[in-house]
Amino acid sequence: MKKLIVGLAGNPNVGKTSVFNQLTGMHQHVGNWPGKTVEKAEGHFTHGEYEYDLVDLPGNYALSAHTMEEIVSRDFIVDDDSDVIINVVDAANLDRNLYLTVQMMELGANLILAVNMNDFALKKGHVINMDLMSELLGFPVIEINAKTKEGFEELLCTVEKVAANPKDSSEKLSYSNDIKGHLFEIQDFIEQDEGLLNVPSIWTAIKLLEKDTIVIDKVQHAPNGSRIMVEADKVSKHLYDVYNDGPEEVIASARYAFIDGLVAEAVAKPEVEIETLSDRIDKVVTNRILAPFIFVLVMFIMFQVTFVVGAPFQTVIEEAFSALSSWLAAQLGPGVISSIICDGIIGGVGGVLTFTPIIFLMFLFLSFLEDCGYLARAAFTLDKLMHKIVGLHGKAFIPMILGFGCGVPAIMATRTMENEGDRMLAMMLVPFMSCTARLPIYAIFVAAFFPENGGLVLLSIYLLGIVVALVVAAILKRTMFKGLSTPFVMELPTYKVPSVKGTLLHAWDKTKGFLKKAGTIILTFAILLWLLENIYPFGGTDPQMSILGMIGTAIAPIFAPLGFGTWQAAVAILSGLAAKEVVVSTFGTLAGMSADDHTGITHLIQTSFTPLSGFSFMAFTLLYTPCVAVIGAIKSETNGYKWALTMCAITVTTAYIVSFLIYNIGLLLGFG
Ligand code: GDP
Ligand code: MG
Repeated sequence: MKKLIVGLAGNPNVGKTSVFNQLTGMHQHVGNWPGKTVEKAEGHFTHGEYEYDLVDLPGNYALSAHTMEEIVSRDFIVDDDSDVIINVVDAANLDRNLYLTVQMMELGANLILAVNMNDFALKKGHVINMDLMSELLGFPVIEINAKTKEGFEELLCTVEKVAANPKDSSEKLSYSNDIKGHLFEIQDFIEQDEGLLNVPSIWTAIKLLEKDTIVIDKVQHAPNGSRIMVEADKVSKHLYDVYNDGPEEVIASARYAFIDGLVAEAVAKPEVEIETLSDRIDKVVTNRILAPFIFVLVMFIMFQVTFVVGAPFQTVIEEAFSALSSWLAAQLGPGVISSIICDGIIGGVGGVLTFTPIIFLMFLFLSFLEDCGYLARAAFTLDKLMHKIVGLHGKAFIPMILGFGCGVPAIMATRTMENEGDRMLAMMLVPFMSCTARLPIYAIFVAAFFPENGGLVLLSIYLLGIVVALVVAAILKRTMFKGLSTPFVMELPTYKVPSVKGTLLHAWDKTKGFLKKAGTIILTFAILLWLLENIYPFGGTDPQMSILGMIGTAIAPIFAPLGFGTWQAAVAILSGLAAKEVVVSTFGTLAGMSADDHTGITHLIQTSFTPLSGFSFMAFTLLYTPCVAVIGAIKSETNGYKWALTMCAITVTTAYIVSFLIYNIGLLLGFG
């Protein structure tokens, strides 16, 4: 077997991960969302006599060192010894896609162009002459369909051919004579430098002109580094004199000129652009006035359907656990073992597991909205609405919307942001977006107090999270993170009908994460809580005299001004730091899930809260410190505890203030 290392590179959302999954049989997440893959994924498969090592690179538009994804991709192409790079491009947006292609040509990568989504291009009336393209570029151009695997066989055969005869793809790259001449001057010096034998010379020359810090650093450490730098500075100044523009801009327009020529030759386009269905839908969905209403409506429908469809399933699971609990209690007889299993484990873990149908439905909805392309529009809507008022960078809305699912991937998604300040600000805001783990908390309060208006109450909670995030952003932007955000054009992916299998898999994948949590963190805490609830250091049987009761009683006064100064609520909030679902399992353990009373949690909630203090509690759990996994994610993304702790401080303070306002204004208005 011969080994082949092959990279998949390309703009975001062109189908790289789809190709990767088709070939490796893996299930990396495919999303209709620019910036989905942030880390490179690796997979293996065999074809003929070759053993492939396939790497799915994060999508990017450029190979500068502005964002983490760009660095990951560029390191792979420059430093790792890959055999072939498959550049996947979206046929419907060929011009824009080729900008990255040109940069990979500058690197001299051993390239193949895989033209995907030609169906969309044809709908727009664009006809690409693949053979002519290949001739003009100097490397193979293959039409593929990542969904149907059309063209895959040809693609792999070509990979093998190209791997056997590596070629420098920069050969046919041509810039206008003036620029070319100057690049050659710098290139000459680079090629003669012993310390720079292994770097692509034209690329290095261009990067020097673009003032790329990583490349400059490398060159400066080479034996003749200072001479090369002098030469590069000279050329820079010259270009500035001639074009009255920075070298970066001059090079960018040279690249576009090359692409324009290429496309004019090889792509036939209609005289007038054809308006696609996607364009027409967007006229309504991203309409400045309608968009916010559509967004709220979509969310409302999501919550309403989730609850209405999920409820009967939830009841079935609840009754099953309740039956199991009473059966076990009868078998085991009264005693410690029976109590720990029935009250502790089934009450705690079972109490959380009953929410599996609701969580699955919620993820199903989110996956569908994400895969069809709507979530990108939602981010776009929020951006349009808020950029000017709050000063938040448009890219921050993508992680924030992802935060509706889970905070951990949302924090990782901030990697697409170039500016450190903007990125930190986004991380501070993600926790305010209500993640799916908080859903069970709202669900038990809705069941106890607002059974008629579940969807509406949930909508208000989610909107509260968004509004609070924006207010906090506005405050932080004027204090901690001063300075203007860079403008940003958000790219909207074409609407697609997501595959049923893909959406189900995606939702199931996330639900599995929830089940895993139930079996680990939540189980551990259920047992721990049961222990603390059943140890009475000073004797007695009053639950308040248990260790748990005493801890709760000690901190409860802190929450009294918010309306829920009971020891049970205090304990639930404290345990929610581990995972938000534990709040529910705490109530479950406290209530016990005995046979004759499977509405134990509801009863406990109704007796220790009022509707108003219940809502205040929901708001507090929405806004206070996220679970340890998110804190850990921020810590590892920022290499230290500083921002993680800052986030904790911001969230707890905000939660306290908001809940205080809700409860006290509610009292004044007579909702007590
Ligand atoms: P990546 O960001 O480059 O990894 O792109 P993905 O593989 O995540 O795909 C982005 C979107 O394009 C997903 O919604 C895919 O289902 C869709 N997609 C991928 N390939 C094709 C194709 O050949 N035709 C069509 N119509 N859609 C595709
Ligand atoms: Mg991807």
